[in-house]
Amino acid sequence: MAYVDEILEYLERKDYYEPEFVQAVSEVLNSLRPVIDANEKKYRQVALLERIIEPERILRFRVPWIDDKGQVHVNRGYRVQFNSAIGPYKGGLRLHPSVNLGIIKFLGFEQIFKNSLTGLPIGGGKGGSDFDPKGKSDREIMMFCQSFMTELCKVIGADTDVPAGDIGTGAREIGYMFGQYKRICGTYEGVLTGKGLSFGGSLARTEATGYGLLYFTEEMLKCNDSTIEGKTVCVSGSGNVAIYAVEKAQMLGAKVVTVSDSTGWVYDKDGIDVALLKDIKENRRERLTAYAEARPSAQYHAGRGVWQIKCDVALPCATQNELTIDDAKLLVENGCIAVAEGANMPTTLEATKYLQEHGVMFAPGKAANAGGVATSALEMSQNSERVSWTFEKVDAKLKDIMINIYHNIDNAAKKYGLDGDYVAGANIAGFEKVADAMMAQGI
Ligand code: GLU
Repeated sequence: MAYVDEILEYLERKDYYEPEFVQAVSEVLNSLRPVIDANEKKYRQVALLERIIEPERILRFRVPWIDDKGQVHVNRGYRVQFNSAIGPYKGGLRLHPSVNLGIIKFLGFEQIFKNSLTGLPIGGGKGGSDFDPKGKSDREIMMFCQSFMTELCKVIGADTDVPAGDIGTGAREIGYMFGQYKRICGTYEGVLTGKGLSFGGSLARTEATGYGLLYFTEEMLKCNDSTIEGKTVCVSGSGNVAIYAVEKAQMLGAKVVTVSDSTGWVYDKDGIDVALLKDIKENRRERLTAYAEARPSAQYHAGRGVWQIKCDVALPCATQNELTIDDAKLLVENGCIAVAEGANMPTTLEATKYLQEHGVMFAPGKAANAGGVATSALEMSQNSERVSWTFEKVDAKLKDIMINIYHNIDNAAKKYGLDGDYVAGANIAGFEKVADAMMAQGI
């Protein structure tokens, strides 16, 4: 039996209760077949695939916290330190009720290859909790973050594991966690990224994932005889990635007509008003119904439905498996030419395949959304040098990194005769560096 099939069968048997993890691994390994087949003997000898699918370390911990009424609650905290072959573990912390070990493992696994693609020395990790930040007071958020960090601080450090934000974890949460780390450990170090600008954060980190997504998309379109300028774009989500994707798309001359949140979505025929969106989501922390109330050109719809709107470019920036086969069919029917993932694995395997088979350019999240973690790595560099770069300097580096990622994955695909298959290209380019490092470092 082929090495990849053996591993996939093992995974189905051992980790069937972690469907997102199994999905992520099978997507990666299936597209790596040409590389693995060509190196089968060498890889088998050192059990490379067995090792790469197994996290180096998993921490699961109790997170007790007290609400404003004095009631104690308990959540589950996780940190998966997946792979440190090319650098300290690096990856965000997700706070969402859907979080479980399988989801954190899938995100950590993806992070290994994403981080490798940035060209910067960062390994893969991920963490989070099933804590639901929605509707919590500032004080409750602080209580939770402090309790979470009280355990997490035992396994992280500026040169070992550097967490950051993800869904539910933004500047406020990172600030509370950083304060607690310093209080307990007594060291002032770049142990988290996405920090506030007054205590070691990097300019352009807030914008980085969304801006990077557009720099990547712009380059991909340009190299396929097209352009982002003048295109109609559908975005899903309305968190940090979506907001800055909308902003940069508009700066580049595209018209973005949709955004969504967990309860509904908005179609704005005049184009999303990004200042209003920021005010509602970043300051007021309200739902998108508030956007539609304030904008006569916008319609609010309950439920999901962004992908039924006709667009040239689709940017899923909400969460995993949000773009299904039915959505993919609608996008193709409506003439969509490119899909670039702002979220992690927002497109199902079936939908990805359908889009690729129908000639839609498809950019996987591990390449297209790598600008966030890349800029986190730039924050780490600034912290260790004890300097702060200008916005322009960080933004220019981010743009360079995204353009390099595009060409790197495009070339990797071409090398194996898979021209235009950016999924395979990203997995191959990301994997080769990590595999080399793992083999060089022995068992
Ligand atoms: N959560 C982001 C991601 O999925 C950023 C991680 C980081 O900056 O470490 O890549």
